[in-house]
Amino acid sequence: MLERLLADETETARLGEDLAMALRPGDVLALKGDLGAGKSTLARALIRALADDAGLDVPSPTFTLVQSYDTRIPVHHFDLYRLSSAAEIDELGFDDALAQGAALVEWPERAEAYLPKTTILIELVHDGDGRLARFSGQGPAFERIARSLAM
Ligand code: ADP
Ligand code: MG
Repeated sequence: MLERLLADETETARLGEDLAMALRPGDVLALKGDLGAGKSTLARALIRALADDAGLDVPSPTFTLVQSYDTRIPVHHFDLYRLSSAAEIDELGFDDALAQGAALVEWPERAEAYLPKTTILIELVHDGDGRLARFSGQGPAFERIARSLAM
């Protein structure tokens, strides 16, 4: 299993920037972790890197469930914490989103059955004052991402 230690918030943001470099259309990154684990910090840095705009406003899609960005690679940022039904995920157009770009999914456990088999799982866990990121997945997308992070 691939892991990266994230000593502070800057290193979480750096991981987001590194992921942005390796990201391709169609990639799905599932960001798992407790409240405060750093999922949104990671997503924000990744989206800002794709936009090449460090000051870009990246609101948490807590209530809208999804926020889309017309970046170098179009990216859809999901936060499924408040997802209340399977019908709601159909309305979100999950499949369409994946067809048009890449997706970052916070709280992916709310929609496990809807995620493609090629989903790259990134689990963020507390580790002392910092965090540990654990990567898992299968297939060419996972291998590309894993290779790019193993620098
Ligand atoms: P989540 O979306 O998982 O609920 P957030 O990214 O909103 O988490 O918040 C995470 C909090 O933890 C923020 O206050 C952020 O500054 C902090 N944080 C992020 N990464 C790290 C890290 N590697 N070490 C310590 N604190 C971090
Ligand atoms: Mg969050």
